Amino acid sequence: MKNIVVLGVGVAAAPLIRQTMRNVVLKDKDYKMIVVAPNTHFHWPIAMPRVIVPGQLADDKAMIDLRPFFNEYPEAQFEFVLGTASAMDPASNTVTIAPSEGGSRTVNYHTLVVATGSSSPDMPWKVMGSTEQTKQRLHELQQQIEAAKTIVVVGAGATGTETAGELGFEYAKAGKKDVYLVYNDKLPLTPPTMDSVRKAAKNELEKLKVKLVPNTTVSAVEQSGNDTILTLTSADGTTKTLTAQAYIPSTGLVPNTSFVPANLLDNRGYIKQTKALLAEGHDNIFVLGDVGNLEASKAGTASAQTIHLVKALPIYFKGGAMPAYSPNTTEISAVTLGRSRATGQMGSFKLFSYLIYYAKGRYLGTDYAHLIAAGKKSMLTNFEK
Ligand SMILES: Cc1cc2nc3c(=O)[nH]c(=O)nc-3n(C[C@H](O)[C@H](O)[C@H](O)COP(=O)(O)OP(=O)(O)OC[C@H]3O[C@@H](n4cnc5c(N)ncnc54)[C@H](O)[C@@H]3O)c2cc1C
Repeated sequence: MKNIVVLGVGVAAAPLIRQTMRNVVLKDKDYKMIVVAPNTHFHWPIAMPRVIVPGQLADDKAMIDLRPFFNEYPEAQFEFVLGTASAMDPASNTVTIAPSEGGSRTVNYHTLVVATGSSSPDMPWKVMGSTEQTKQRLHELQQQIEAAKTIVVVGAGATGTETAGELGFEYAKAGKKDVYLVYNDKLPLTPPTMDSVRKAAKNELEKLKVKLVPNTTVSAVEQSGNDTILTLTSADGTTKTLTAQAYIPSTGLVPNTSFVPANLLDNRGYIKQTKALLAEGHDNIFVLGDVGNLEASKAGTASAQTIHLVKALPIYFKGGAMPAYSPNTTEISAVTLGRSRATGQMGSFKLFSYLIYYAKGRYLGTDYAHLIAAGKKSMLTNFEK
């Protein structure tokens, strides 16, 4: 039996799992797919800036049970192990798994797909330990937001900017709560986003009455009862404190590579990923999505890589020459700013607010996330079955 081991079931892996089951595994009884992930539910990060706002989107719009999809496959050729990869050894083609129920298990692989993505420590933007733990943290955050007089979002990448927009739309615009966005640059969003797009984000957030605190970092965080007291240090060195009842850090993601041997990683901790989407120096370890260092961590990128690998894997399993993947070189961004406006760019063209709002902001992908979870769609294409 040749094991195809897939680590992670996120935006990148979910469609690959279904399509490879259909294109390769179910056509040849010699193959078995073993999927390892700590989440019972597919997690859809794109909707999370709105999911955290109480009463906006139900949990199941962004967290979709994977088990009914997996139950379609014969046990002899498919296994879902709830747990995490805790070590891998390319020399012996083995992965060690820490199952959620306890213990340890080592599995041998013919082919390994690492799609373990990235995490946001202490925030439910991504899977936190398990689906249950993620939901628990989400509900705690929703309660804090509900009860808060002051909400502080820290970090103005796309996630922080969108979150401030959602909270501004719901609360600050109508004067119901104070919403602050603290960030360490002159404008929200980050390069390579164009300044015109970043200025548009600033203008929209101001219209939503979000209080912008640019050129500032958080130098200390203290908890006192229900209050979080943040010490803010501005670029000129002055400090002040800001007290909030809901504190929402959005200062970036870390790659989930603690189980990967150091020689496979770059100096930022991402897996060195070739244009064949392989781990550098290994011809049976594929790397997909946020965890790889070939492109920026975006769902669009993860989807493009998935589409490539869905087509390339059947060739690889027949021993054919692997086609090369062409990384995207056009900067594309779409940033929702509350429940009626947005901004973004395609290459050097700034896109119309309403166009992005219509395409993304209305539903934040919750109208199709269940199809990605099922593996029938990626963000960029529908698969035949
Ligand atoms: C709030 C937010 C909003 C976003 N909005 C957008 C957007 O609008 N547009 C866009 O293009 N991108 C967006 N992104 C980025 C996008 O979500 C990611 O690029 C995408 O999720 C990457 O998919 P992935 O499958 O590589 O990783 P992930 O979605 O992170 O999935 C990783 C999977 O691996 C599992 N895993 C983790 N560790 C292990 C382990 N040790 N063993 C086994 N499994 C493991 C996880 O539980 C999960 O199942 C957003 C991100 C966030 C956080």
